[in-house]
Amino acid sequence: MVGRLVIIGGGMAAGRLLEALADAGSDWKVTLINAEPRGTYNRIMLSPVLAGEKSYPEIVTHDDAWYRARGVACHFGARVTGIDRAAQTVTLASGTAIGYDRLVIATGAMPLIPPMPGADLEGVIAYRDLEDTERMMGLGAGTRAVVIGGGLLGLEAAAGMASRGVSVTVVHRNSHLLDRQLDPAAAGLLQRDLEARGIRVLTSAMTQEIRGEAGQARALVLEDGTELPCDLLVMAAGIRPNIALAEAAGLECARGILVDAQMRSSDPAILAIGECIEFDGQTFGLVAPVFDHALVAADTLLGRRTAYAIKEVSAKLKVTGCDLFSAGDFADLPGRHEIVLNDPLRRRYRRLVIENDRIIGIVLYGDTADGTWFFNMMRDGTEIAPLRDTLIFGPAYQPEQAA
Ligand SMILES: Cc1cc2nc3c(=O)[nH]c(=O)nc-3n(C[C@H](O)[C@H](O)[C@H](O)COP(=O)(O)OP(=O)(O)OC[C@H]3O[C@@H](n4cnc5c(N)ncnc54)[C@H](O)[C@@H]3O)c2cc1C
Repeated sequence: MVGRLVIIGGGMAAGRLLEALADAGSDWKVTLINAEPRGTYNRIMLSPVLAGEKSYPEIVTHDDAWYRARGVACHFGARVTGIDRAAQTVTLASGTAIGYDRLVIATGAMPLIPPMPGADLEGVIAYRDLEDTERMMGLGAGTRAVVIGGGLLGLEAAAGMASRGVSVTVVHRNSHLLDRQLDPAAAGLLQRDLEARGIRVLTSAMTQEIRGEAGQARALVLEDGTELPCDLLVMAAGIRPNIALAEAAGLECARGILVDAQMRSSDPAILAIGECIEFDGQTFGLVAPVFDHALVAADTLLGRRTAYAIKEVSAKLKVTGCDLFSAGDFADLPGRHEIVLNDPLRRRYRRLVIENDRIIGIVLYGDTADGTWFFNMMRDGTEIAPLRDTLIFGPAYQPEQAA
């Protein structure tokens, strides 16, 4: 008998899994169920779509023909509402039940909506999918938007809308933008670059309520009484793994669905991958690890034993003209020191955090061309003592063998 494989969620993890199974010529008879009314697209490219640099068709990675050619049965615009582990079925909102021999949960993450009066008003959105992107694209020039959250997602939303002539204010609760990636000096350069595009940035700003009129959000009110009028309010305050289905089915969960190194949940018939999982105490929010989960899950489904291991990842801000590269650990702890290059006139900033003669943190702003070189040294644990004097200038300034 050919096994029935059901995948819940048609996002980036599921897309990579399907590719790996197809490449291996697997015999699984696959059913893909996605709540979004479409198959996989490159979600990270929604920001270039918002900024008008790409169109949606250009970021589709798996179209109907792709699924057809590989015999994948698709249910798009269909939400799974329950998993019956004893009967090995999933139930769709329509009531249809679909049987499985193996199930993969790839439900991604949910935007965090900070509890606040008015958060349920019309005109309050998250930034997660094509529909959210289209809402922002639909704002006309001269309209006003407020973005809550000065992280990567919030800034990409803000820059995209600003490039369309929307008057945008970013409200960030911490003292500097991108505080998980940047130190205050680099964040200051970024803030000035964003302000030069007409984006207003308020840091150390605590939100109080969203004021509405006839059910529509009209203004964000801060704790100090500042009122920020808006036509659209975008919440970009973080994400949390989407585990509701798994929890209801009695799978072991902590912050995410707990999986082992083969991506198996506490039920051997059910695997989980992507932003919905937790492995070794960690949850995930970038696409590189999510793809690794998918490849390991494919091996498990193919009867190969591969073990997942967490790798270093780097982050970039996808705002044209604001080049930023960040990776590693920036916590200020004893035994660590920094090498910094700060050239505000050339809008160039580099900071390396060093521990035990190894790079453990990297921030580059302005000129990020050497990011991969530093990142590889960090990943490989390269000893930097012989390069220390010129390290910060990058590979072009190193003896040939080191560069
Ligand atoms: C605007 C934006 C920009 C980003 N930029 C970057 C970047 O530059 N670099 C980077 O590394 N990462 C970036 N990310 C993060 C990256 O997109 C995610 O890490 C990745 O998409 C996670 O893949 P996933 O498959 O786990 O979840 P998703 O891609 O979110 O897919 C989950 C899918 O499951 C579906 N689903 C959920 N519940 C159900 C259900 N009950 N039934 C059926 N279907 C369900 C959802 O509708 C969704 O389609 C960005 C994210 C966004 C939103």
